[in-house]
Amino acid sequence: MITRVVGLKPPKCQPHTRAPCQRSKMVVNSEHCAEEGGHLRRCINDLNKIFEHPPIRDGGTFSQGLSDLLDLLVELLQLDFAYVRFEDSIGVDGFEITRTAQAWDALLSLELGRLLRESLGQDLQWWPSQQRIAIGGREISTSSLQLGIEGATGTLVTGSARVEFPEETERLRLRIASVQIAKWLQDARLSKERKRASEMINREVARRTGDIIAISEERRQEIVELRRVVESLRVREIDIQLVVDAIPAPMAIMTAEGQLEAVNRPVLEYFGRSVEELKRWNVIDAVHRDDLQSTIRAWMRAVESGEPYEIESRHRRRDGVYRWFHVRGFPLLDTDGSIVRWCVLQIDIEDRKRAENALRSSERNLNLIINTIPALVWSARPDGSAEFFNQHYLDYVGLSSEAARDWGWTAAVHPDDLSDLASAWQSIRTSREAGEKEARLRRFDGMYRWFLFRANPLRDEVGNVVGWFGLNTDIEDRKRAEEELRNTQAKLAHMARVMTMGELTASIAHEISQPLSGIVTNASTCLRMLAADPPNVPGARETARRTIRDGNRASAIIGRLRALFNRKAPVTRPIDLNEATREVVALSLDRLRRDGVNLRTELAEDLPVVAGDRVQLQQVILNLVQNALDAMSAIDDRARELTIRTQRDEGDRVRLSVEDSGPGFDPGAVEKLFDAFYTTKNEGMGIGLSVSRSIIENHHGHLWAAPNHGLGATFSFSIPRNTEGVIGAHDRGGRTTFGNSVTRNS
Ligand code: ADP
Repeated sequence: MITRVVGLKPPKCQPHTRAPCQRSKMVVNSEHCAEEGGHLRRCINDLNKIFEHPPIRDGGTFSQGLSDLLDLLVELLQLDFAYVRFEDSIGVDGFEITRTAQAWDALLSLELGRLLRESLGQDLQWWPSQQRIAIGGREISTSSLQLGIEGATGTLVTGSARVEFPEETERLRLRIASVQIAKWLQDARLSKERKRASEMINREVARRTGDIIAISEERRQEIVELRRVVESLRVREIDIQLVVDAIPAPMAIMTAEGQLEAVNRPVLEYFGRSVEELKRWNVIDAVHRDDLQSTIRAWMRAVESGEPYEIESRHRRRDGVYRWFHVRGFPLLDTDGSIVRWCVLQIDIEDRKRAENALRSSERNLNLIINTIPALVWSARPDGSAEFFNQHYLDYVGLSSEAARDWGWTAAVHPDDLSDLASAWQSIRTSREAGEKEARLRRFDGMYRWFLFRANPLRDEVGNVVGWFGLNTDIEDRKRAEEELRNTQAKLAHMARVMTMGELTASIAHEISQPLSGIVTNASTCLRMLAADPPNVPGARETARRTIRDGNRASAIIGRLRALFNRKAPVTRPIDLNEATREVVALSLDRLRRDGVNLRTELAEDLPVVAGDRVQLQQVILNLVQNALDAMSAIDDRARELTIRTQRDEGDRVRLSVEDSGPGFDPGAVEKLFDAFYTTKNEGMGIGLSVSRSIIENHHGHLWAAPNHGLGATFSFSIPRNTEGVIGAHDRGGRTTFGNSVTRNS
């Protein structure tokens, strides 16, 4: 649509005409110059007016301002008309404005646009810049100027009846006016666009404001709540950072999606990398190449499942050294249980790993040693059930580790020994001290051999028994050797007794002849007393009693001799050592007399009863006395003194000593005296002291020799006294066991 603004401008002055110059050239020039100068001044004034012309006066519109400008042009240039047509493309509604001189017909003014197109063509862009055309029966010179670039904005057409229109200065003024119009139009367009944009913004603001107002209270509450949560999260983030930094171990905070978000100072210090670099931890060498895949897998699984995870991996320190870390990742949950962050703790376990490796290697070595030592090694739990056997043990008994474990090993123990071994094992555990017990163990081929089972407790730092270690040693060969030794000793002891029998025969004969002659004498006396008149009955009774006493004495001597020369098993009984000594002395009296030996007996009156084999102990005493007599037999330059002494000894023991005044012996060779077959006598056998020592040791005592301070030697033994309720006894093999109870006789 085209808007036409057409107006007739009331003339303010007459159309401008210029008269030709009729004066002399100089005058003409002078006048002409004056005229040109005035013309120029007017021109400049006109330009100023055009420039100063406001596009829109206060309160007016753009078209009014433009109409005023066209009026100004008509007036200044004394035109017949000024016409402007705008193209639609400028964004302003397309319209045309026509301003004509006063004299112009109003109707013609209205038709001017159409008339111009008829004369100059429909396409305004192609209108000639100057053209003389006929309009409304008049000849008019037209000037056409494009507005904007190539007339894209519009066209300004001016017309004047003057043939020379437009002159140079007029063209200039028209050009200025066209630029001014184009500028105004541009401003108007921009202004309009600004206005439109502003209106759009206002409309949008209004719409949004309306939307916001329309938001329900509930929604508003939600927004408020959301803000509060965001704020609290922000605060919590600060808190978390504080906490994370305060933790001395490396720690990382990851997002719920698994991206690294923050790390604490120890992480930065350990890795020597920035947070940005560490965000790419899975592609840089922060984690050891060999641990990377497993770490990534564990981490992805955790993020997918939301479950905590743990993994051990090597991390690269800033100096390039990898250290082992125990990595624990766990989710941080919001109040509604959803994961908001992941916390990943890294604990340095390098030292622990090294210790474990060292331990493993030392365990390997220990296993190697344990399995190669030629002994049966085992370990047990505090309750006594076995948990480990070395290979040698398993090979020996022919059991698998599983079969031997717990109490399975007892299947290889000899049935006769099992109960004793079990009770010994029980008492060792109860005592919480090391202990041992002998028992037979079946070899894989069914043969039993004697073993010494030895158990040692394994304690923790506060002394609690946390297990047992055991070592079973094969003592079969030692057992046999001991048995043989015992048999040999028994034979030697018997031989010794037999050898001394010859020596003793005289004493025995003398000893027995004494009671026998006593019997005979007393019996004769008795008869004589009975034959008297009156018979001396009390005297006869007394002599009869003496007869019986002497008879018993002779019988006892014979009984003891029988026991002495028979190889009987030892019998343990309470013994009065003083009495046993007296009997030995009685057996030796004949020789004592023959050798001219002064005998002294110092027998302690309060000597306690001892437990032992009377015959064996008397054999020892007899042997010591015989040796003393032998030693003194070559002494002629001094008295032959023999002292037999009994006394209480330390530790609730009793001691018996035989002291002589013989030549004594070399103190440096004292132990040799007790060796079997050691003798300095021409007809000696060198077994007396050896056998005596083994007898005393079997009585839990000891036998020793010492040179006297003066001359001679003293041989002594010391044995424990009879302990109430428990005394030594001898098993079949000659080893001492405990538990037999005897009743003491006084
Ligand atoms: P034998 O009497 O057959 O020699 P013993 O074993 O009884 O065997 O004694 C070994 C040795 O001890 C004797 O040969 C002697 O040298 C020494 N001996 C024993 N008793 C005495 C003693 N009272 N004084 C000095 N030497 C002694």
